[in-house]
Amino acid sequence: MATETRKRQRSCIACGKQAGKAELYRVVRTPAGSVAFDGTGRAPGRGAYVCSEACFAAACKTRKLERALKTKLDHDELERIAAEVSSALRGA
Ligand SMILES: [Zn+2]
Repeated sequence: MATETRKRQRSCIACGKQAGKAELYRVVRTPAGSVAFDGTGRAPGRGAYVCSEACFAAACKTRKLERALKTKLDHDELERIAAEVSSALRGA
């Protein structure tokens, strides 16, 4: 019988709000080194969580996203990921 493992709380990298994985948006740095919004929450790689589009923007601005993912992101990449996040939030 499959029992669900203990739910782990994640926290938003911008405001620090804690929430379950399902309530936060995951951005992932894949093993190949690219960074993308992870709509499934299951992509392999190093993940960072934000609770809202505003927090995503704040995390970009303050470079918390780069720190959390341990990578450098240029302006174009940030714009691309921001677009992915905002379209995902609108679609949800
Ligand atoms: Zn937040």
